[in-house]
Amino acid sequence: SERLRERFAPVRTAMLYRPPRGGSPVMRFWRLMDEVEERFDEETFETLLEPFAQSPRVLVGDELASSVVIMPSEAEAFGSRLAAPLLGPDGPYGIVLLASKLSGGEYSAPEAIYVDRLVRFLSGGIQNRLHYESMITDGKTGLFTHDYFMRRLEGESARLLRRPGRAGLIMIDIDHFKRFNDTWGHQAGDAALIRVASAVRGAVRSEDIVARFGGEEFCVLAVDLGQMQEEALMALAERIREAVKSEPIPWNGRELSVTVSVGCSWLDPARGRGPERGMELADRALYTSKETGRNRCTLAGYGLLSRASLTRE
Ligand code: GH3
Ligand code: MG
Ligand code: MG
Repeated sequence: SERLRERFAPVRTAMLYRPPRGGSPVMRFWRLMDEVEERFDEETFETLLEPFAQSPRVLVGDELASSVVIMPSEAEAFGSRLAAPLLGPDGPYGIVLLASKLSGGEYSAPEAIYVDRLVRFLSGGIQNRLHYESMITDGKTGLFTHDYFMRRLEGESARLLRRPGRAGLIMIDIDHFKRFNDTWGHQAGDAALIRVASAVRGAVRSEDIVARFGGEEFCVLAVDLGQMQEEALMALAERIREAVKSEPIPWNGRELSVTVSVGCSWLDPARGRGPERGMELADRALYTSKETGRNRCTLAGYGLLSRASLTRE
């Protein structure tokens, strides 16, 4: 591997690609093996990609410099010596750039062919992964979709039947969001949705599933709570409610904020709370939070909901 590193290793590597849903290109940079924070201009990306639309093949050394009409200065500073296209069914969607070799000297023809084959081979896999991610996430907030959530919920429920334990279901709905839109405009509403999503995400564990249920409604599947005390789910719901309430929403030089109403239930299939019943109870608990004044959490306890629900500011 020392020999390979000597022969092959680029001083810098970059992978640039268009995400399937559009928007800014994704840009990842490495210095030797370490990922670093860097970015090219979007125009640089477009210019670099251009020659590959005509002929999607690897470009090396001076051939690279002469193919790109004007070598964008950033790419020149990066020291691009080899460029290989990431190819999807609709043509190139990105590019892998290698700077000069650690050992100096140009990439030889066999090295260039090797890199090209490797990148071609990986292109399909990378694009599949990107499409899958965009299919299961909501474009506005980056949270999971309703469909994906329901699938994970079924899976978690089946798992809990095999290995007893409980999971938490937490339904969240923004309070008076119609009024917020009417007052500040739809774009401010969109900004709020993004901030709320990030506040909820930040309040739970990374393995928990957070989804946007369309509109201004969110749902969390808090997995692996084991035999957590009943009250602890309420504490988690409270943490989410607090996080949203204190999340600033910057808008036209102001700081706006929203509150949410929360309803939660255990997912406990062994005790009659499968996916359907669990969701129904969380939804009813949310309704109770709305009815009793909003900006609060309600837990559907194990007794009759009307007797066992807890509501707190
Ligand atoms: P409540 O406290 O009872 O939940 O009142 P609410 O106004 O939040 O509830 P309602 O269901 O009456 O209104 C939901 C609003 O959410 C209406 C709709 O315009 C807004 N909304 C839904 N999706 C989006 C979105 O993607 N962007 C924006 N800006 N607003 C949205
Ligand atoms: Mg609402
Ligand atoms: Mg709603």
